[in-house]
Amino acid sequence: MNWHTLTSNEALRELDTAPDTGLSAASVTAREKTWGKNVLEAKKKRSLFSRFLAQFSDFMILILIIAAGISFLASVLNGQTDFTDPIIILAIISLNAILGVLQETKAEKSLEALSKLSAPSAQVLRDGARSVIPSRNLVPGDIIFLEAGHYVPADARLISSIDLCVDESSLTGESHPVSKEAAATLPEGTQTADRRNMVYSSGLISRGRGTAVVTATGMNTEVGQIARLILTDEPVQTPLQKRLEGTGKILGISALAICVVIFFLGVLRQRPVFDMFMTSVSLAVAAIPEGLPAIVTIMLSLGVQRMARKHAIIRKLPAVETLGSATVICSDKTGTLTQNKMTVAEILSPQGLESADSRASRQILTYSSLCSNAAMTSHAARRRGIRSRSQTPPADYEITGEPTETALVEAAAGTGLYKNELDKAWPRLREIVFDSARKRMTTVHPLPSGNGQLVITKGALDVLLPRCTRIRIGEKIAAMSELYITRINRQNLSMAKRALRVIAVAYKEITENAAALTEDSLESGLIYLGMIGMMDPPRPEAKEAVLVCNQAGIRTVMITGDHALTASAIASELGILSGPEEVITGKELDGMPFEKLCESIRRYRVFARVSPEHKVRIVKAFQNAGEVVAMTGDGVNDAPALKAADIGCAMGLSGTDVAKNAADMILMDDNFATIVAAVREGRGIYDNIRKSIHFLLSSNIGEIMCIFTAILFGLPSPLLAVQLLWVNLVTDSLPAIALGVDPPAKDIMEKKPIAPGRSMFSDGLGIRIALEGMMIGALALLAFIIGIRFFDLPGPLSQSLPELSSASPEIGRTMAFAVLSLSQLFHAFNMRSAHSLFRIGPFSNKKLCLAFLICAFLQIVVISVPVLAEIFRVVPLSPVQWLITFVLSVLPIGIVELQKKLAPSS
Ligand code: ADP
Ligand code: MG
Repeated sequence: MNWHTLTSNEALRELDTAPDTGLSAASVTAREKTWGKNVLEAKKKRSLFSRFLAQFSDFMILILIIAAGISFLASVLNGQTDFTDPIIILAIISLNAILGVLQETKAEKSLEALSKLSAPSAQVLRDGARSVIPSRNLVPGDIIFLEAGHYVPADARLISSIDLCVDESSLTGESHPVSKEAAATLPEGTQTADRRNMVYSSGLISRGRGTAVVTATGMNTEVGQIARLILTDEPVQTPLQKRLEGTGKILGISALAICVVIFFLGVLRQRPVFDMFMTSVSLAVAAIPEGLPAIVTIMLSLGVQRMARKHAIIRKLPAVETLGSATVICSDKTGTLTQNKMTVAEILSPQGLESADSRASRQILTYSSLCSNAAMTSHAARRRGIRSRSQTPPADYEITGEPTETALVEAAAGTGLYKNELDKAWPRLREIVFDSARKRMTTVHPLPSGNGQLVITKGALDVLLPRCTRIRIGEKIAAMSELYITRINRQNLSMAKRALRVIAVAYKEITENAAALTEDSLESGLIYLGMIGMMDPPRPEAKEAVLVCNQAGIRTVMITGDHALTASAIASELGILSGPEEVITGKELDGMPFEKLCESIRRYRVFARVSPEHKVRIVKAFQNAGEVVAMTGDGVNDAPALKAADIGCAMGLSGTDVAKNAADMILMDDNFATIVAAVREGRGIYDNIRKSIHFLLSSNIGEIMCIFTAILFGLPSPLLAVQLLWVNLVTDSLPAIALGVDPPAKDIMEKKPIAPGRSMFSDGLGIRIALEGMMIGALALLAFIIGIRFFDLPGPLSQSLPELSSASPEIGRTMAFAVLSLSQLFHAFNMRSAHSLFRIGPFSNKKLCLAFLICAFLQIVVISVPVLAEIFRVVPLSPVQWLITFVLSVLPIGIVELQKKLAPSS
């Protein structure tokens, strides 16, 4: 269908839809059956099997498989039929790979669910009512509303357009926004790029507004046909993951070196070369922390899920870490620190406070309602599915739109001035849109008399007043004078001091054709009419959140386009501001060289009357002063600041797609407290990653120490290859993951932010890992020695140590194996806090308790079930031997508790 050759009315008829009510629910269902969802088919996913195979691509695992192969060959060559070793190695590796795939899938699923949560939405007219729905639910024939900052959700023919420009570079490659015109009809051969009366899915509306009827959805759209994916989420590594990879390499190489030493040491001591080879390789597999990056990824994705439950959607994984390091949060005032439920509190003419239904008030309200884009829908019309043509005022109505404007339209409606009726009497000819940099908005309407037009401008007083040359006093119009200016400014200050947001209204009548005039000439020579003061109470939870930030060493900074006094009043109430010297305005910022700003930036807590461009300077200045900055934003021109910030936070409710795309995190409830909750999570995740690393590395060191010492002193190897693999790939992995979901410590928001780039091993963690590793190693070795000294074959045991090597140390090995695995399970609980375990409640991490029970059970089964015992080369233990094993395994708790008491660390 060549939609661009039709007029919009023809297109509407063709699609069987009504421009003023949209589709009915029944029709939507029917169309969805025919056309399907408005989504692009995703890229083919890797199959489960190929992901399973990918788990084996790790270098050390490959070595292990080769070793298993050699062991198999050796058995065959020696004419033996015992293949348990290679089989068990392959089984353990497979089990590990399955665990890996499961975890990976889970992490992926949770991220996928998240991307659905932050999927784009569209404004649509259905059954006579305007609502916001996920873009995926659009069908051909839907009437959609297009607004600056949002993506075009589907291919559509324009019905109306105001100053509409769309950036279609992702579709056509054309880098400049193209201007669109609903009224045009175009010849058949017009190229996609030149179809001015159409908008295409994935286009970004850079300016203006419009309505359109959807002509194609999903794979039928132009982008769909090119079958290009807009959302290709390349997995990115976070800085922490990169650092860990580096650390992992160093640890890996040292572990490898130690294993080589152990191998030669063993061979020197005349151990069977092949056994020594298997032990060394297993040890290397065990000791090299190749599981770390995977565990960190899982933890990050689980954390991301928890944050989503608290309304913070992470778009870029590294943000999770950066959050824990945040030292400054720059927050918008309106809607983030305040409730964004604006209500008109006062109306002021130059003569003073007006009652709501005074003549002056009615004019101010009429004009500000006309010059607003909030929409008023009557419920009665919605129920009947028809346009309200009745003259009776719609008593039952709903107002939707930007809160400032909703408040104005609401206040007007309260005195019987209904926007939908006003709009009919005064249709709009032109609009110069509001944006936070201009701080004003203008509309043009034809005068009822037929000759000339009415221009209405509303905006911030300090922007508007210089554009007024006259002033309306009662019925008269006078020239603007210094006296009036002083009086009006005084009125403005008095409202601002009481935390009211002020909008001034001015107008003029012109006889020239407004379409031909420049924006500047339309917005000058105005007649000043009056001001409206609006209340927007602070969010109750914001005060608490600011307090938490103060304790957590995080500075809260307010950024707003509002007047300095309005901002200060609210900031003081929230506990952000302590004195007027902490306030700075956009004008003062402009006059300050960047170096000076960097020096003094820490002094300021409120940035008032700023434009979005100032935000970038503020972010850069804070960063220059060494701070890690989180910054909120919602508008198109906030995107650069969101990108520049360490953590860009876009608003989920009021934010534009542009802002969301530039952001690292989306606040689904636009709430300041959500940022603070996310910071808490971020710190918790960092802590938990440290706990897992602590656990895994101290366990690995324990194993190396145990075998190394034994071989150094001429003892037989206390642990066999399959046993090592079992412990590392099976019983160690569950507790490590369970530690990752430890609830954040209660005092986590009373500590300083994590210094960015700080080593994971700072604060003595490295030393603790080494010492605790030695402790585990010593305990396993002790179990081994007790086993061979008291329980294993008597014969050579009465002689000196070197001769022990000839013993067949089955019971010793079994005990060492059990102690190694069980002591690590107990030791996992030690990671949970720098304070005594009993202070945080030993069983408060249910997942860790469960992991403990499962792994302890498996460990006991492996030793006690004869078939398994044979495979793992262990023997059943007597009650006494179990008792010794148990006592040795619990010791880490006692020893570490003692250390926490005697030498507490931070
Ligand atoms: P904020 O940081 O509070 O969101 P804005 O940039 O939205 O600040 O608004 C700055 C000023 O612009 C306000 O103080 C108000 O005077 C004016 N203003 C806000 N919204 C509108 C609007 N829709 N139309 C006209 N003026 C507006
Ligand atoms: Mg705003």
